[in-house]
Amino acid sequence: MWFQSEDSAAGIAFTDVTEGNLAAHTGDDPAAVARRRRAVETALGIGPVRYVRQVHGTTVQDVTGTPAPASAPEADAAVSADGTPLGILTADCLPVVLVGRPGEARNGPPVLAVAHAGRRGLLDGVLQRTLGVVRGHGARDVTAWIGPAVCGRCYEVPPEMAEDAQRVLPGIAVTTSWGTTGLDLPGAARTLLEAQGVAVAPECADRRAWCTLEHENLYSHRRDSTPGRLAGLVWPVGGKDAA
Ligand SMILES: [Zn+2]
Repeated sequence: MWFQSEDSAAGIAFTDVTEGNLAAHTGDDPAAVARRRRAVETALGIGPVRYVRQVHGTTVQDVTGTPAPASAPEADAAVSADGTPLGILTADCLPVVLVGRPGEARNGPPVLAVAHAGRRGLLDGVLQRTLGVVRGHGARDVTAWIGPAVCGRCYEVPPEMAEDAQRVLPGIAVTTSWGTTGLDLPGAARTLLEAQGVAVAPECADRRAWCTLEHENLYSHRRDSTPGRLAGLVWPVGGKDAA
């Protein structure tokens, strides 16, 4: 496990190569993926995690009060306000976890969310859309964890791509450690979330320490063209009957 934390409302975790590939959409043996997912749930002591079928879009799946479907719906973010644990799968893109505390009038489970934010999703507003659904459930204080992802020093893109991104999210264009144009997705996500009044957890502030390309025990599509994906996970604590 790369990172695990729990507060009074929710638990948050990011897996690494130790837990193995948790993605069902990258050509791995589905039975092996299902076994690994169950092992993670058992280790964390949580119920079945809901995943989505990610397509680099901005659709947010609100699973609140819905039964688990036979196959994962197409979406790049998920929200639950009924205590359903959620997971998102990445290998260089950003796995973002959000935890919203209910307003004063409510004392139900926290509002949980996960989002897959790559370059396209980030520029197209997947985080803003996810946050909108979280706040639509009455969440007030929202905290975000930006999980392991390729850092700005390591994510090279063509200059025209950097210019286009910079027009949408000023500050996202940076220089890689080898002097070419790059994009700082984690930094841009942080700026964007903080501008929306979200507190970004300080544990994930050092992006070199959380860089998928620089750490062999994290999955990196850029480094290995791997089918492996790590999971960002969130679940409720202290109210397991809430689900
Ligand atoms: Zn890096």
